[in-house]
Amino acid sequence: SGARVQRAQNKRLPQYLERGVDVKFSDVAGLGKIRLELEEIVKFFTHGEMYRRRGVRIPGGILLCGPPGVGKTLLAKAVAGEAGVNFFSISASQFVEIYVGVGASRVRALYQEAKENAPSVVFIDELDAVGRERGLIKGSGGQERDATLNQLLVCLDGFEGRGNVITIASTNRPDILDPALVRPGRFDRKIFIPKPGLIGRMEILQVHARKKPMAEDVDYMAVASMTDGMVGAELANIVEVAAINMIRDGRTEITTDDLLQAAQIEERGMLDRKERSPETWKQVAINEAAMAVVAVNFPDLRNIEFVTIAPRAGRELGYVRMKMDHIKFTEGMLSRQSLLDHITVQLAPRAADELWFGEGQLSTIWSETADNARSAARMFVLGGLSEKHHGLSNFWVADRINAIDSEALQIVNICYERAKEILQQNRKLMDAVVDELVEKKSLTKQEFFGLVELHGSLQPMPPSI
Ligand code: ADP
Repeated sequence: SGARVQRAQNKRLPQYLERGVDVKFSDVAGLGKIRLELEEIVKFFTHGEMYRRRGVRIPGGILLCGPPGVGKTLLAKAVAGEAGVNFFSISASQFVEIYVGVGASRVRALYQEAKENAPSVVFIDELDAVGRERGLIKGSGGQERDATLNQLLVCLDGFEGRGNVITIASTNRPDILDPALVRPGRFDRKIFIPKPGLIGRMEILQVHARKKPMAEDVDYMAVASMTDGMVGAELANIVEVAAINMIRDGRTEITTDDLLQAAQIEERGMLDRKERSPETWKQVAINEAAMAVVAVNFPDLRNIEFVTIAPRAGRELGYVRMKMDHIKFTEGMLSRQSLLDHITVQLAPRAADELWFGEGQLSTIWSETADNARSAARMFVLGGLSEKHHGLSNFWVADRINAIDSEALQIVNICYERAKEILQQNRKLMDAVVDELVEKKSLTKQEFFGLVELHGSLQPMPPSI
């Protein structure tokens, strides 16, 4: 790889090349069987000739799917590191530009560089930002995005099966990608990276502890057990914060206690990790407050543990932690009413945006929760929970699918109106929660319910669907 790097240096400086990427699979923990799939991608580079001779098709693109912070970027770097090839990266949100043509020309430049410096891995972060199904976004922004997407498709096709430039993209929403992107020869291989389980979390903590002065008897399992739901990025952060704790106390070893304390800080959200303008703080506060204020009206969702707008690793916004029975939810065992309530909560940020900033000003910070609401509504209809489609069969017929979509849309609309109504009834509570959030960044359960006592007017009113 030294010679390759040398060759790369003789040309004009590539913009998208990340220098000094030295990540190995041993730096990524808790992968389990996924590691085998990634090792195969490395072999496409190191044993490309063998694959071609045997007529094995080398994929042009690999999609790493999973929530933010689980290590998708790290894995893409590890593939490049293990194969000893160059690593080019760009975030797809950079493609989505205001100026027409910029996105497409960036894609072209990126691939041009990757080709000149091949073999290389091209990594596209947040592919869904540019790869959403075409036609879903209206207006000139949509056209620009389409031009970018088309350029990306052209570039992907240019390298199909050659194995000297392999594209790895990450997304949290493989379900909304344009079908053209996932066609054979393009991103035709999907690898799902879930949040780590208990053992995975312990291993990730240990990987990050390798470079730190840890006490002999650190109980990683104890830390892993109290970090349920956290991802690698958050766990890495815990180790960093624990180290700072140790230094501040003038000690020389990191203890279990340091880690546990750091875990608590991570859980509550680090304050001011990112710079935000006052307007943004307020907007994020409205977003999160709306979810909490609507949720507190519903029996299954009112168990709110805390509300925060503090930026956390891997999350743009804040979040509302509701104690919900997640297993029940994923197995579709949630009651009809609580599913509707859930949809209503997910629509609350958008409803609040409309109420507080007006229809013309709608921002996009609620797009993720609105997507959640839409898929939950489809689930609702498909699960036969809606009265119209009780005992639904043959739903695979095209007409049926349209019927399902339009019914899901109806449900979304009804829930949206309901969210708006609840927010209007609770304007005082909203204002109080928003103010407190902007000031303190986080509200504990006690603080939040204190405000509900004072200002809330809770009147659950089931919608008629
Ligand atoms: P993603 O691309 O999925 O959002 P990243 O790869 O950017 O996540 O993760 C951010 C950081 O979190 C990594 O640089 C690494 O320090 C840590 N991390 C995430 N997942 C893991 C893992 N499985 N093993 C070790 N560290 C991890």
